[in-house]
Amino acid sequence: MTRCNHTNLALIPENRPRVRCRHCHLTIEVKELGDGYCPECFESSGRKHYAFEPVATDTTGPSRYRCEDCGVVIEA
Ligand SMILES: [Zn+2]
Ligand SMILES: [Zn+2]
Repeated sequence: MTRCNHTNLALIPENRPRVRCRHCHLTIEVKELGDGYCPECFESSGRKHYAFEPVATDTTGPSRYRCEDCGVVIEA
């Protein structure tokens, strides 16, 4: 496999809706909510909480880029 310096980067649009748990304020991607309850609350208390509020997607968090040459995804 050839070495790549990742100079040919393309910005990946942030299109991943997130929600925040009303109990522990964990922010999680919707697609990671497998069974619909908060995994953090379930781990700490054994209870399943289903109360979430939507989080604006264009706030914090690193931008992600994909190298057009080798396909690796980089957070910057
Ligand atoms: Zn690369
Ligand atoms: Zn929670």
